[in-house]
Amino acid sequence: MENLHGYIKIYNMIETKLKDIIRDVPNFPKPGIIFKDITPILLDPQLTRDIINQIIDQVKPLNLDAIVGIESRGFWFGIMLANKLEIPFIPIRKKGKLPYKTVSYSYSLEYGSAEIEMHEDEIKENWNVLIHDDLLATGGTACAAAELIQMQNGNVAGFSFVVALTFLNGSEILKKYSENIFNLVSY
Ligand code: AMP
Repeated sequence: MENLHGYIKIYNMIETKLKDIIRDVPNFPKPGIIFKDITPILLDPQLTRDIINQIIDQVKPLNLDAIVGIESRGFWFGIMLANKLEIPFIPIRKKGKLPYKTVSYSYSLEYGSAEIEMHEDEIKENWNVLIHDDLLATGGTACAAAELIQMQNGNVAGFSFVVALTFLNGSEILKKYSENIFNLVSY
């Protein structure tokens, strides 16, 4: 019980700190969007370490073989997480950015569509893969990442985000890939 209380206390502490430090930038990148800027976190090495440790506590039971990070803010913590867990990190990038042979997936956005890619030889069959990004909004990007992993016969073991905009219900469309959906702070 003591441990559980300690865990909840640290978790709440990180959530409070994140709410203080994450900066709202109105009308970026377009009018009407309130952009959650997480770059101030990276100026604080202790908070950065606490975040990594907290996410590792969340995903430890998943027996991960690799972490996939979504361009570009998903790389910041994704690489640190994979390195600390001593497992591979695999980048997903927007179309045309990766130099070698790729697999790609197109998906619809509110206006228009987008396409993401991954190098074709990086996910091994039946690997348990965590998808990491800075923020969950509608879930469309994370869904596309899950499709890319399944196309290569990997298992989507879970999703991890620093921030979730829960009013957009993004986790609903992710549940068909995995019920393991984690974040550190919600709005
Ligand atoms: P979605 O596909 O709608 O879940 O959008 C998630 C992607 O868009 C992530 O890669 C986020 O970095 C980015 N994103 C969407 N909305 C915001 C926001 N309000 N603030 C910061 N990033 C956002």
